[in-house]
Amino acid sequence: MKLAGQERPAYFLYRSLWYALDWLFPPTCGGCNRPGLRWCKPCQERLARITGPICSRCGEPQTELRFANPSADLLCVDCRSHPPEYQAIRSYAVFHGPLREALHRLKYQRDIGIGEALSKHLIELYNDLKWQIDLVSPIPLSPKRARERGYNQSGLLARPLAYAVQKPYQPGALLRPRETRTQVGLSAIERKQNVEGAFTANADKVKGKVVLVIDDVMTTGSTISACAQALRKAGASAVYGLTLARAMQQADADHQPTISS
Ligand SMILES: [Zn+2]
Ligand SMILES: [Zn+2]
Repeated sequence: MKLAGQERPAYFLYRSLWYALDWLFPPTCGGCNRPGLRWCKPCQERLARITGPICSRCGEPQTELRFANPSADLLCVDCRSHPPEYQAIRSYAVFHGPLREALHRLKYQRDIGIGEALSKHLIELYNDLKWQIDLVSPIPLSPKRARERGYNQSGLLARPLAYAVQKPYQPGALLRPRETRTQVGLSAIERKQNVEGAFTANADKVKGKVVLVIDDVMTTGSTISACAQALRKAGASAVYGLTLARAMQQADADHQPTISS
């Protein structure tokens, strides 16, 4: 009989470290503030999973009427007219409720233990997708932002995922040499312009490799697109993206049938 973690020692050690910290510093839930766990069961049960039909490239939920040919690969209007630089992006759940709260705490309130707790959803999503990847990279922060915050929230999701799926974790694969203003409150076009050329990739690490990029929230996909562009320019053979949450403008209205809660 194999002991738990024997096959994935790095993941086992990483999780053990966080459980030890929980014992020393009893946590509260990132979604509802209930004491006991970093991410409680009732909050997990309230997640609105993103389910099909979705665009095979950008992962955006679609109403079936928009597909010209139902037997073809499901492609949204945008991906058909402007094929993205990445192969595909998928997100676990809609950015609202307890998930929104937990990601806010992870990103802005230094509640870094939530990263490991939330990463299990990304691991589940990755395991379902069966993508063949060579390395895992978080979306980087600019050096200025990294200094101010002291940690990269995407890295706190990406590292345990890399350990769990036994692929190299490469935080230096992507670099963000210049600071960009926050994407919050910008239109789709402004978002695209804001991150255009913001990233570079390290050819020594990514040349000929299939790279999985991890982010906390996706809104229009412009950040992952800009990363994919830099990675492809540096010789990466393909780029995939996974995000924990996806901001949906009309999550409460016409997308409702495509979202299960
Ligand atoms: Zn909770
Ligand atoms: Zn699409």
